[in-house]
Amino acid sequence: MSGVNDIRSTFLDYFKKNGHEIVPSSPLVPRNDPTLMFTNAGMVQFKNVFTGLEKRPYSTATTSQKCVRAGGKHNDLDNVGYTARHLTFFEMLGNFSFGDYFKENAIELAWKLVTEGFDLPKNRLLVTVYSEDEEAASLWKKIAGFSDDKIIRIPTSDNFWQMGDTGPCGPCSEIFIDQGENIWGGPPGSPEEDGDRFLEFWNLVFMQFEQTEPGVRNPLPRPSIDTGMGLERMAAVLQGVQSVFDTDLFRTLIGTIEDTMGAKAEGSASHRVIADHLRSSAFLIADGVLPSNEGRGYVLRRIMRRAMRHAQLLGAKEPLMYKLLPTLVQEMGRAYPELVRAEALISETLKLEENRFRKTLERGLSLLSDATTYLSKGDMLDGETAFKLYDTYGFPLDLTQDALRAREIGVDISGFTDAMERQKAEARSHWAGSGEKATETVWFELKEKHGATEFLGYDTETAEGVVQ
Ligand code: ATP
Ligand code: MG
Ligand code: MG
Ligand code: MG
Repeated sequence: MSGVNDIRSTFLDYFKKNGHEIVPSSPLVPRNDPTLMFTNAGMVQFKNVFTGLEKRPYSTATTSQKCVRAGGKHNDLDNVGYTARHLTFFEMLGNFSFGDYFKENAIELAWKLVTEGFDLPKNRLLVTVYSEDEEAASLWKKIAGFSDDKIIRIPTSDNFWQMGDTGPCGPCSEIFIDQGENIWGGPPGSPEEDGDRFLEFWNLVFMQFEQTEPGVRNPLPRPSIDTGMGLERMAAVLQGVQSVFDTDLFRTLIGTIEDTMGAKAEGSASHRVIADHLRSSAFLIADGVLPSNEGRGYVLRRIMRRAMRHAQLLGAKEPLMYKLLPTLVQEMGRAYPELVRAEALISETLKLEENRFRKTLERGLSLLSDATTYLSKGDMLDGETAFKLYDTYGFPLDLTQDALRAREIGVDISGFTDAMERQKAEARSHWAGSGEKATETVWFELKEKHGATEFLGYDTETAEGVVQ
């Protein structure tokens, strides 16, 4: 009962039995939403249903939603490989109420599924609530029989969800499992919460207000529910392992990497990064994203190149990623037929990008190694060099940062941005007087726009789905 396919169907069937419509995952590229980089939560496809702009023939729904959290505000790219719980691509299981049931039912439904459907031991579970949400705290007491120490009140925005500066918002409540005293980490809200002992696996959002202007919140006449449970995290819990990378699917993928490379995975961030990045790259390409130098395509390129550096660390002398693809398709193709349909395209794209980047990767890495010979823990790589690596060798900034991570060397980001600005200004001065005013203006506008999205991320991003 604990493979991902079983967990997914247990979740969906449970909510279906409880009157929810099973709605297919939407694509990773959100439709009609240029402000959002990638679908990063189950609620993204229902945004307009929550605000009332769109009507659906059902008032409750359940989904298993493909999500990517790389680029944009929810960027877990830097975490991947280094924490036990973050992936750039993952599936979010969710149940939604569009003005139908609210807090009490949502907590009841979740509690029953967790303790009966998934049979998790009650004494290892605990929850967070927003500190002002007394209602949620008393519902948890009533429904789960929790004592006060199992209900942690969090006063920060971590437990208050907002769609944007205005619009629906409300407190949220997250369910955690204690994975055991021998694992380092403290409960949510404590200074040690970043450890792996307490794992967050389900977030319940209670949309009960509408924010009309900063600081002004009015109660919604028909409040709504939005929840998100990480499928891979639940798989880890049910399989009795502490890391998503130790679940069956990832073991299989990592096993293929070991077989192909002959390098053991024990404790290797590289194996984990490659396995995760293979999934996000493959699913992004299947949903129509191709590597490029701007916007979504640039995030994909960053993911792919990052994986390639890790393949290089394992000693890969030729393209590796495309060789791993058949295993992924075999494991996930049934649940996601788009992966099967796009297999040839994904394979070609991976191979092409790997071939294209391999030579400059090696040259760039040797430049990087020369430039950092005399640097040690706590030092910074200068921005000029980081920019040269970007500009001449195609190193996304995060690749350079990742490459220096093990040595605890940082990168001077403002120096990097300055170097880029200088180059832009220079390019501009060369263009002056070319007599092609119209084209020039358009070109620079584009350049500015994409420059910002490449390096600062989509900060204009508003609706985020389930957050924190
Ligand atoms: P964390 O605090 O661990 O980063 P989060 O609070 O950012 O998680 P939410 O935005 O609440 O996550 O998303 C809902 C659920 O989706 C989480 O409870 C978790 O189970 C899952 N999830 C979120 N981010 C990831 C990720 N990067 N990889 C795998 N699962 C994730
Ligand atoms: Mg959360
Ligand atoms: Mg969280
Ligand atoms: Mg997070």
